[in-house]
Amino acid sequence: MDTGRTDDLIAIASLVRAGKATSRGEIGRQLGLRSTTVSELVGQLASREVLLENTTRGRGKGRPAAVLSFNPLRLGAVFITVLDQSLVASAVDLDLRVLGQVSTAPPPETDNGAMARAIQLLVQEAQAFFPPQVELSAVVCSMSGLLDVGRKTWCVTARWPKVRNVDLGAALDSFRCSIWLIRNLDAELAGVRHKENHGVEETALMLHWGYGIGAAYSAGGDVVNRTRGRFCEIGHWGLGNGRGLRCSCGNTDCLETVAALWSIRTQLCREIPGLPNSEHGIGGHLRQLDLSTSPTLQEALEEVLRVTANLCRLLFPDRVILTGPFVQNPEVFSRFVQTLEVAPILRSLDKVQVSVSNGGQTEELAGAVRTPLASELRRIVSS
Ligand SMILES: [Zn+2]
Repeated sequence: MDTGRTDDLIAIASLVRAGKATSRGEIGRQLGLRSTTVSELVGQLASREVLLENTTRGRGKGRPAAVLSFNPLRLGAVFITVLDQSLVASAVDLDLRVLGQVSTAPPPETDNGAMARAIQLLVQEAQAFFPPQVELSAVVCSMSGLLDVGRKTWCVTARWPKVRNVDLGAALDSFRCSIWLIRNLDAELAGVRHKENHGVEETALMLHWGYGIGAAYSAGGDVVNRTRGRFCEIGHWGLGNGRGLRCSCGNTDCLETVAALWSIRTQLCREIPGLPNSEHGIGGHLRQLDLSTSPTLQEALEEVLRVTANLCRLLFPDRVILTGPFVQNPEVFSRFVQTLEVAPILRSLDKVQVSVSNGGQTEELAGAVRTPLASELRRIVSS
């Protein structure tokens, strides 16, 4: 089918979906299409069950008017993400509504085979939340660590050190739908860009400081390198401090060895009584904390600040968005603002806008699932 016709079909579906048109007449007026063309295109969308037609009885004589509505349950996707030491799968419809959620907590010693089976089972369980008419069109894996998006491979993750190069494409092949892989930070930044309505010219750097440390960067209207799954791995920048501390990636003396939650948790627990286990819980706990009570956190902060400031001198972002438990502490946040605003080379340019994201799963889910579902909808309407 030609692209122009598919574009028209998508434009009609989008109008109805957004509540801007409920009849053929309204569609024709808004898109400037002839009535016969609109009828034919709407007919196609209705036959694919993308649009639903409810016939209402009008007051006057003549044909009853058909009210068109969008069918969000035409297609569904299963979205998988990493939360602390667990994997969470959500069943999502075309309106990005979560119909149900399941999770599993693979132990740290989980290997490739066990991880592949755990993910297969999770997709199966999540799929059960869909009503029978929903077609599972995509599984979207939003993973932490290093990915090879082109090969649909999950390469390395600090949480499960024995997991190396798991082929998720092959593991999920039996579901007979499209398989998508995206780095979780890229997904979150894509979601935040959309929510905050960033302009095409605007650049943003998102820094996650939590169990691991990483960043994502957007420029030119999209997240840089999202189709590859590796970028801004600042957690594995060498500090050259000569301590010889082994990192989860196999090297020594990476930033993560002195600042990531996985490496400093034991020490932090000694200095901060009652520190919860989850990243979310830690964030809440640290909100009240006086920074001077934790030398470990202070040292970690200095290192993260130095690397972030250097990264800003490389990328010169308009916005810096901080996520993760540590930046929930007001003193930590304020140190970031001060460091980035007073750095002489940055100060001479437009002011960097520093903010904290609540790290909600909503943005990550939307950022990960929006493109796959749009592409599957396009496939359905043009089939
Ligand atoms: Zn490393």
